[in-house]
Amino acid sequence: MTRTVEFAGTTAVVTGGASGIGRGLARALLGAGCRVVIADVDEAALATTARELGVLGVRTDVTDPDSVAALADRAVAEYGEVHVVCNNAGVGPFGPVSRLGLDDWRWVLDVNLHGVVHGISAFLPVLERNPDWGHIVNTSSMSVLVTPPNVAPYVASKAAVLAMSEVLAAELAEAGSRVGVTVLLPGAVHSNIKASLRSRPATSGSGLYDVDLAETGRLRFIEPDEVGAMVVDAVRDDELYVLTHGEFRDQAAARAARVQA
Ligand code: NAD
Repeated sequence: MTRTVEFAGTTAVVTGGASGIGRGLARALLGAGCRVVIADVDEAALATTARELGVLGVRTDVTDPDSVAALADRAVAEYGEVHVVCNNAGVGPFGPVSRLGLDDWRWVLDVNLHGVVHGISAFLPVLERNPDWGHIVNTSSMSVLVTPPNVAPYVASKAAVLAMSEVLAAELAEAGSRVGVTVLLPGAVHSNIKASLRSRPATSGSGLYDVDLAETGRLRFIEPDEVGAMVVDAVRDDELYVLTHGEFRDQAAARAARVQA
């Protein structure tokens, strides 16, 4: 399906938009001409970033479907439509599988997987109302391709997001929908994600292990604004995959060939 994407005058919503990659996505979409709404559970960071960027910030907990539905209602009430939703909020407890508890698994799946599901449920009907186009961007992770140690729940959640996005893209294409899907696989990006280790309620007693992503030794760190620019291009070109590190393009191309076969 070919389509023409005009960003000017459209609205984009970014979850986890208060910091890191979400902030980079918001800045890039603003630069492309969108009105932007950022959503985040961290109220202080949300207020700061919304003020800095001059955009609407809506306090949202992506683990709560009602909260995400209220975000969609607010965006539509404010701007009348939404063309792009970036389901980007994410967290990551670190530690070997043998030491992580069920609470770690539930927490990370709730935010990283169910948060994306809630975003799709709340926004797909809104995107489908557009006469021209709409786009869903789901943040997975390069970790699903390199499977580093100490992040099993995280990698599992991100693998699920990748697979779910591929299924969604196929379903929408088959239905003749004008809504496209992009799945973003960041490598190592400068952000605050390790701070999430401290915000998880310490209920499991399993202990958390801070592992520097750079220890994998396979990725150089890039900036959130670079990721934002790649995503804007992907939305414009209706691309399914965005890999932030070129060295993994062969793996993605092989996967794309398999999925599209
Ligand atoms: P970050 O911590 O800077 O940003 C994540 C944002 O999500 C934070 O502002 C946080 O408050 C918000 N958030 C957490 N739980 C939430 C909830 N329940 N509801 C709403 N907002 C919530 O980290 P980041 O690196 O920018 O992460 C953004 C996304 O990119 C995540 O999905 C992450 O898994 C993914 N990612 C990051 C990297 C990296 O190297 N930084 C690599 C691969 C994937």
